[in-house]
Amino acid sequence: MVLDSAADTPLLLEAAEVPPVFEENAAGRSPFLLTCDHYGRLIPRALGDLGLPASELTRHIAWDIGIAGVAERLSNHLDAHLIAQRYSRLVIDCNRPPCVASSIPVVSEATTVPGNEGLTPTAVEMRRKSIFDPYHCRLAEVIDRRLRDGIATVLVSLHSFTPVYAGVARPWHVGTLYHRDSRLPPLLLKLFRGEGDLVVGDNEPYAVSDQTDYTIPIHGEARGLMNSGIEIRQDLIADQAGERQWAERLARILAEVEATLIKPRASHL
Ligand SMILES: [Zn+2]
Repeated sequence: MVLDSAADTPLLLEAAEVPPVFEENAAGRSPFLLTCDHYGRLIPRALGDLGLPASELTRHIAWDIGIAGVAERLSNHLDAHLIAQRYSRLVIDCNRPPCVASSIPVVSEATTVPGNEGLTPTAVEMRRKSIFDPYHCRLAEVIDRRLRDGIATVLVSLHSFTPVYAGVARPWHVGTLYHRDSRLPPLLLKLFRGEGDLVVGDNEPYAVSDQTDYTIPIHGEARGLMNSGIEIRQDLIADQAGERQWAERLARILAEVEATLIKPRASHL
């Protein structure tokens, strides 16, 4: 059967499969709205293993190692709403505009992904409709509600990065990632540097751009929200102790951000 419109595109996930959107503390009272685009590494049953061995599907090209544990703990420390995406970014990258080649990568780092080669437009649309759209529609819906209800909202997009990429070691422990927001990232940088024991990346190891990112440009900048990405180096959060330490550190730092940027303004209302 030839399908000629997105409305007719069948869904990729079977009814019994885990939905893409994971949420924690949906009724949380914190101004921070936490997102986690690369939270999980599930693959829809219909796609098998994408033609990759398990050793590739557990490393950083498939997901952001360690960030799920940090994000959940941070959500609980702050009483903040976390919206995360459970399927591997090798299936569809939820932090890429769907029109760019790296949205469904044929090559990630130096690994060719056989299951992503030669996809038909319908196969591409199925991935978008089944995984990308539900996640971003949920984020948009939550932001709509918060803005309508006058709830202070700061978007923090949580990621982790591999200590060595394409043979090059990265010195940073943590980085802030941003583009147009001039309020939150400088304060975050100051607070991270003030910790005294961190090598801090300023838009390192990545900078946000409209071509290489989706969550911050679309849900942060276009909605007028204060926003920043936070990237943590994966070897620091490779076990539960590391996840716990970083969640506690981020909770302390974000509490200071809230006290500095949000509460003084609210007190003048
Ligand atoms: Zn990521």
